[in-house]
Amino acid sequence: TIGMLCIDEAGDIAGACTTSGLAYKMNGRVGDSPIIGAGLYLDNEIGGAVATGMGEAVMKSVGSFLIVELMRQGKSPQQACEIAIKRIIEKNSNYKDFQVAFLALNKEGEVGSFCIHKGFTYVKYQNKENTNTPSEYYI
Ligand code: ASP
Repeated sequence: TIGMLCIDEAGDIAGACTTSGLAYKMNGRVGDSPIIGAGLYLDNEIGGAVATGMGEAVMKSVGSFLIVELMRQGKSPQQACEIAIKRIIEKNSNYKDFQVAFLALNKEGEVGSFCIHKGFTYVKYQNKENTNTPSEYYI
């Protein structure tokens, strides 16, 4: 999955999410990526969030929507991503068997990311420079 969040000089936010789906998926399976609120959600007054990893867990938590709503309540993008991952961990006793990662951006241009397992990295492009940033993680 490739998730992308952008903010321009006027503070307008855009987002996109594209995927080939999970490896070995069942024929006809629809993952989280095309479902607004699950794999991607954005409110231009607040910010945006995207997800990658086990789509079923993301869909059941409506993860990207949850993150944007947490930011609406005053959480930073980082705090919001951590709460969303912890929600998935609480609701899925088998969470050690799969990865989920969230990335979020708010109206101030602040970025946050959190995932279950170490290994998710995102790239921040600003002032014509790419910065590779390893996400914080739960385990
Ligand atoms: N989230 C995608 C899905 O469940 C898979 C992925 O991120 O690799 O379809």
